[in-house]
Amino acid sequence: KREQLELLATVEAVTKDGVSLRLAGNISSVKELNMALKYGAEGVGLFRTEFLYMDRSSFPTEDEQFEVYKLVAEKVGKETVVIRTLDIGGDKHLDYFQLPEEQNPFLGYRAIRISLDRKDMFKTQIAAILRASHYGNVRMMFPMISSVEEVQAAKAVLNEVKNELDSRGIPYNREMKVGIMIEVPAAVMIADLLAEEVDFFSIGTNDLVQYVLAVDRMNEQIAHMYHPYHPGVLRMIRMTVDAAHSVGIDVSVCGEMAADERSLPLWLELGIGVLSMSPQALLKVKHRTLNTLASEAREIAKVCFRNRTSTETEEQLSAYVGRSG
Ligand code: PEP
Ligand code: MG
Repeated sequence: KREQLELLATVEAVTKDGVSLRLAGNISSVKELNMALKYGAEGVGLFRTEFLYMDRSSFPTEDEQFEVYKLVAEKVGKETVVIRTLDIGGDKHLDYFQLPEEQNPFLGYRAIRISLDRKDMFKTQIAAILRASHYGNVRMMFPMISSVEEVQAAKAVLNEVKNELDSRGIPYNREMKVGIMIEVPAAVMIADLLAEEVDFFSIGTNDLVQYVLAVDRMNEQIAHMYHPYHPGVLRMIRMTVDAAHSVGIDVSVCGEMAADERSLPLWLELGIGVLSMSPQALLKVKHRTLNTLASEAREIAKVCFRNRTSTETEEQLSAYVGRSG
């Protein structure tokens, strides 16, 4: 079965009735990039940079980061590489960076909140990403955005770094696209406002589900309540996509939901063309795409978006996968 799937690596992801999807990889290292490319990833939809900062004794320098980002950009070639700025806090910690003890780390000092507070560290990373943008199709993305102010503040830092690179005479892509993760409910509710500030959205369903349902994604005891197909989650996803489409910016999904082949009808109905997932999931989702009739899948999804419970949606999507082979 695995060998058969591997034959699909170079096949395009198109439904039986001709709807094309772009399946990209979520990576956190060059090793994972190699795996993603082997499994036919069309670009990198999420480069989790945290892992460059982990397992060391100090922050990585601009040059150290630049070398890795450049290598990834070059290996990927003409396809896009979305590099996400540091997303520590929550469950991810650095030995050399003391984070405060918190009652609710996932609601605390995390991701963009740390970056905006530790400007030197943030600027170093942005400089490295900008420099890499000269060597490939690089985009930059900010995690855990919850307000317009945060986006504006992050973009102001980006501009500062651009000016500094200009005075250092270092080349970078002046048109580098900038986007945000949509993974906090407030961001969904103001998605129309945020869409005016950025070039793209990427929906992070791992955090979005946890924050919408108030269910800690790390807590085993309530894991049975962690429902990606909860109507509240589906409505949030739809709101986000509608906001992006109404101003014409790109929107993709990069949380685990994208790796769940059962979700495919939802993306087809919403008109999401790019899914980013762990390398291991790529061939399975491609196989599902090739075996799906988009017109039929959309009818299933329409029903799902009207369902009152996650159970019904999960059952219907699972049954559909069962039927479509
Ligand atoms: C997400 O929250 O869905 C996501 C892709 O980011 P991470 O899993 O790194 O928090
Ligand atoms: Mg997240």
